[in-house]
Amino acid sequence: MQIYRSIVGGGSWPGWTEAQLEGQAFHTIDSRADLDAKWPRIVAAKPAFLKVYLEHSEEFAKRRDDPAFFGKRGLDPALLPDVVRRAHAAGLTVSAHVTTAADFRAALAAGVDELSHLPLERITADDAARAARQKTRVVTTVISHRPTDGVADAPALHRDNLALLRRAGVPLAAGTDGEGTVIDEAVQLCRLGVFDNASLLRLLSIETPKSIFPSRRIASFGAGDEASFVALDADPLVDFAAVRRASMGMKQGHLIEGPTPTDTAASDPLRCERYAPSVPAHGPAPHPSASTQRP
Ligand SMILES: [Zn+2]
Repeated sequence: MQIYRSIVGGGSWPGWTEAQLEGQAFHTIDSRADLDAKWPRIVAAKPAFLKVYLEHSEEFAKRRDDPAFFGKRGLDPALLPDVVRRAHAAGLTVSAHVTTAADFRAALAAGVDELSHLPLERITADDAARAARQKTRVVTTVISHRPTDGVADAPALHRDNLALLRRAGVPLAAGTDGEGTVIDEAVQLCRLGVFDNASLLRLLSIETPKSIFPSRRIASFGAGDEASFVALDADPLVDFAAVRRASMGMKQGHLIEGPTPTDTAASDPLRCERYAPSVPAHGPAPHPSASTQRP
């Protein structure tokens, strides 16, 4: 709400007023009565999926009516299970914006299909196990515009949470939440040292697109599959930065004209494994391969 209001207030959407946002850019749900009243309009808009906002759910009561927390609060976590139930009944999936570990847990407890972000707090092995059991996908967004005040070392936090999620077998998708492309996100994920080149390439080129378009025959080369792919001018298994150097692309059988890659091969190939911390910051020291390889 605060984001959309600042977009309109800043003049980036000419012709839009703040009053037009409710019901089009977003729906505010303050109570079960609100949900009952607004649900028909939400479904009638035929959304591809629903995104729900949780923000410090552990302090929901404290933040709910305090103007100081405008833009720093979200949906009442007690309403979320009902939202998810209705969404699933209408054939819609639900992706939850989460910031804290409590948000992560509330979203899982409500049965959402996807968590739109890694949380900005450490999660536990139990949290990861639950996400794996429920097959709840987590979108990485290590590149994000979200404020990280109070987080001493965001890359270390993301590294630990991602390692936990990978070990538990939680489905992941690469995605940014701000400036940059998914390629930038993947390179940043590489530098966290939680993936080896092959696993990260699989995440970027197979698991992520399939999660966005589950019904399309993409990221595979069987008979009758879509001819949608890029060709890189170097082997990303040797130098992950090669994902920045697509020399041709094809979308559904049509050749895509694009700029000639300007990023040339560096003398030092990008090997994601190299960034794995030799001594983990938390927990007992695992075998070196445990932090980079899915068991
Ligand atoms: Zn979000």
